[in-house]
Amino acid sequence: MAEITSSFIQSEINEDLKNGKYTEGVHTRFPPEPNGYLHVGHAKSICLNFGLAQQYDGKCNLRFDDTNPVKEDTEYVDSIQADVKWLGFSWDDRMFYASDYFGKLYDFAVELIKRGLAFVDDLNAEEIRQYRGTLTEPGKESPYRNRSVEENLDLFQRMKNGEFADGEKVLRAKVDMASGNINMRDPVIYRIAHATHHRTGDEWCIYPMYDFAHPLSDAIEGITHSICTLEFEDHRPFYDWLLESLGFDVNTRPRQIEFARLNLTNTVTSKRKLRQLVEEGYVTGWDDPRMPTISGLRRRGYTPTAIRNFCKEVGVAKANSLVDVAMLEHCVRDDLNTNADRVMAVLRPLKVVLTNYPEGQKEYMLAENHPFKGGHRYVPFTRELYIEQEDFMEEAPKKFFRLKPGGEVRLKHGYIIKCEDVIKDENGNITELHCTYDPESKTGGATANRKVKGTIHWVSAEEAVDAEVRLYDFLIETDENGDVPADFLAAVNKASLETITDAKVEPSLKFIAEGTHYQFLRTGYFVVDKDTTPDHIVFNRVVGLKDSWAKVKK
Ligand code: ATP
Ligand code: MG
Repeated sequence: MAEITSSFIQSEINEDLKNGKYTEGVHTRFPPEPNGYLHVGHAKSICLNFGLAQQYDGKCNLRFDDTNPVKEDTEYVDSIQADVKWLGFSWDDRMFYASDYFGKLYDFAVELIKRGLAFVDDLNAEEIRQYRGTLTEPGKESPYRNRSVEENLDLFQRMKNGEFADGEKVLRAKVDMASGNINMRDPVIYRIAHATHHRTGDEWCIYPMYDFAHPLSDAIEGITHSICTLEFEDHRPFYDWLLESLGFDVNTRPRQIEFARLNLTNTVTSKRKLRQLVEEGYVTGWDDPRMPTISGLRRRGYTPTAIRNFCKEVGVAKANSLVDVAMLEHCVRDDLNTNADRVMAVLRPLKVVLTNYPEGQKEYMLAENHPFKGGHRYVPFTRELYIEQEDFMEEAPKKFFRLKPGGEVRLKHGYIIKCEDVIKDENGNITELHCTYDPESKTGGATANRKVKGTIHWVSAEEAVDAEVRLYDFLIETDENGDVPADFLAAVNKASLETITDAKVEPSLKFIAEGTHYQFLRTGYFVVDKDTTPDHIVFNRVVGLKDSWAKVKK
């Protein structure tokens, strides 16, 4: 296999393989805690872990890190599977739960006690904190640290049997209270929690801590490279200590490699905060199109390709940074530009009557579906049409090349029209425009090539289909750097959703299915929302057409 060297992680893996480690092949895992829906940050981890497995012809497991009984739920387990699949990855038959290993993890803890490397502590949480010391001061050993192996085995078993209340005792690893790394100062590895677990029910009342469960779950599954975010860097010494202490061979046991988490401007990437937005009703749910969850992005109209390309473009780094959300938008625009059919839709309609067009006449204009994929359809053209309100200006500046009194404009795929009269109601609001059309100006006509400055989109008033269109802005208002403020709830953008209930779309869109993407000419990329029914179409705007990222790149 050709050597893959596009990131420092690949260099590390190459080095391992060169040194004769991991002869069974590269094996990674994606280990979400099922306490919320996945977000765009997780997408980066998914692309990385499953991507490495693909590149090295190895394997990647999906593992639910469900060691905390209180916050976890099967709804999250289901959504996580759906999201990973939707992104285009497969764990084959390797979907696991850390809770499946509770028995094995208990046995490992017993083994650690037997080796004199773990003890039951009676200090309470507050005392443990006081004894732990600080970054500048060493910790103090617990008075219970030197209990005999027999006593520890007995107490640990009684913890398991439910003889003690929550918090009354914990099991701690016996490492080094003077270590410069606080994570090595006898970390707690088991705690008592009389709580019902979403999978194991009431079978257990002691639960392993992350730092204990994670390395051992990796080892049990034969993971070779346990890739995680930078905040776990200081946990790596304990990861290695634990596996070393339990006798796992250094040439086959997993190793942890850290990378920088994805932070995006204008975007919250924390499950806890996202849960708050859902539970406190700031959004309609985890899949609200304004949410940076994978399900929210999907409903918004993001495609798996766009998200995967984005993760590729972001790359993997060893230092934290803030990525411009414009880059994510660029990626979906790029994909939809290639793949979405073009159609005409008028978001804010203004009626146009063509006074010299015969009443009752209807023509079908041939319209191309896509500039380079090709394909055509017919769009009906009638005496009464709708154009975009903003494509007409009564007192237009010189450079306004759309429609103005006495001015001409081309209707896309159709005729040139001229504005003759502006009709208003008693309050002075414009209700319709009376125009004339040049009958020879459509394709094939004598004046088909006559040049006018502007071209605008339109739909037939008689034939158009009503639609609801939802336009989105960022959910959180940020400073000019795009940083989300600490009090993010106070910064929720009240105008992040604009609903247009009376948009008009061309009739080819009459019976369309959820998830179909279009470019509405001149107004952006749109997707059919799940709220759509046969007599009520709902579109979400994915992104506008203007690409601020492409400019930045140049
Ligand atoms: P959150 O803070 O949003 O709850 P988490 O790290 O607690 O995130 P987990 O379910 O534990 O969520 O994450 C599963 C995997 O995804 C972990 O390996 C974690 O490192 C990775 N991950 C989480 N957030 C990001 C991010 N923003 N960028 C890259 N990877 C991430
Ligand atoms: Mg976590």
